[in-house]
Amino acid sequence: MRVAVFNTKRYDRTFFEAANAAANAVANADRRHDLVFLEPRLTRETVALAAGFPAVCVFVNDTLDGEVLRALADQGTRLIALRCAGFNNVDLVAAAALGLAIVRVPAYSPYAVAEHAVGLILALNRQIPRAVARVRDGDFSLDGLLGFDLHGRTVGVVGTGQIGAVVVRILRGFGCDVLAHDPVPNPVCVALGARYVDLPALLAAADIVTLHCPLLPQTHHLIDAETLGRMRPGVMLINTSRGALLDTRAVIAALKSGTLGYLGLDVYEEEAALFFEEEAALFFEDRSDRVLQDDVFARLLTFPNVLITGHQAFFTREALTAIAEITLANIAAIEQDLPCANAVTVAPTPA
Ligand code: NAD
Repeated sequence: MRVAVFNTKRYDRTFFEAANAAANAVANADRRHDLVFLEPRLTRETVALAAGFPAVCVFVNDTLDGEVLRALADQGTRLIALRCAGFNNVDLVAAAALGLAIVRVPAYSPYAVAEHAVGLILALNRQIPRAVARVRDGDFSLDGLLGFDLHGRTVGVVGTGQIGAVVVRILRGFGCDVLAHDPVPNPVCVALGARYVDLPALLAAADIVTLHCPLLPQTHHLIDAETLGRMRPGVMLINTSRGALLDTRAVIAALKSGTLGYLGLDVYEEEAALFFEEEAALFFEDRSDRVLQDDVFARLLTFPNVLITGHQAFFTREALTAIAEITLANIAAIEQDLPCANAVTVAPTPA
């Protein structure tokens, strides 16, 4: 199928070209798609670039509102292949009305995100960025770099689905005592020795709390002034899930008071709007020449015990390979009118 791949970065092209070539070898027939890589994000202004393409491939920060979807359908597009799990940027009702098929990549590598979360724990505990900067500066002193053994510490894992379960396995390998909280306990985690408790019990006992649950109305600001108040003084908090699981202002207050001893983030609740002169998500762009407009984010950057990465936990070779392979297989399934388990459909509206 001819596919217009919007919002292409160099790494997208590398992994999609490799997966496209491999699809041919595996299928023993020419199953390759005709991929045309476009740098612009898909927006109302750029949708004309998709004219004549039966499929478009898009990412989390492309615009797929009713107007863009209508333009796509009018121009001959019938498939939208999301190269990500989330589909909150798609007007599914409009897509269904226009007869547009939507496919996505629900899971790619839980190891990528789990290992990044553990990387943040280690980097914060042993102050690795600060230590590296000191050595580069010719300063070999150790004052201020004191860490703690992870062995024997209690870690609270909130959300024990695919990613949380890998985190539990890694932490058990370190010799940590793991407390877990999830409305649906995972037998794999129980077998690994995690103990399921309610959230207040987890927060009261954990030296480290790491969040691996989805952002839902029930989990919005799961960590706020009240829940922070239940945690052990000096606790470490890690969030690689979604920014709005934290009330960032309450977190800053807890950092100032010392209640929170360490904070590691890969996501931020306002990551889509850090630079207000642009209207869309910019966490994946180089904006080093712009003035940061978000004072809350700017305050977070001032703490010595805070580490922030720019939504890169998924970013491993294995995850990008899986994303490309699954996306191309999704496109092939729709092209051949086969059932596609990764199709996104509109949830029925309750009567
Ligand atoms: P998953 O669906 O396999 O697991 C989520 C778990 O959270 C489930 O077991 C669910 O029962 C549990 N849960 C739901 N509500 C909860 C609550 N109130 N309290 C505790 N647990 C609750 O999802 P996953 O693949 O493990 O992904 C977890 C999250 O990681 C995703 O929702 C996403 O936000 C995030 N993520 C981040 C990146 C990144 O690059 N930073 C990449 C992929 C996923």
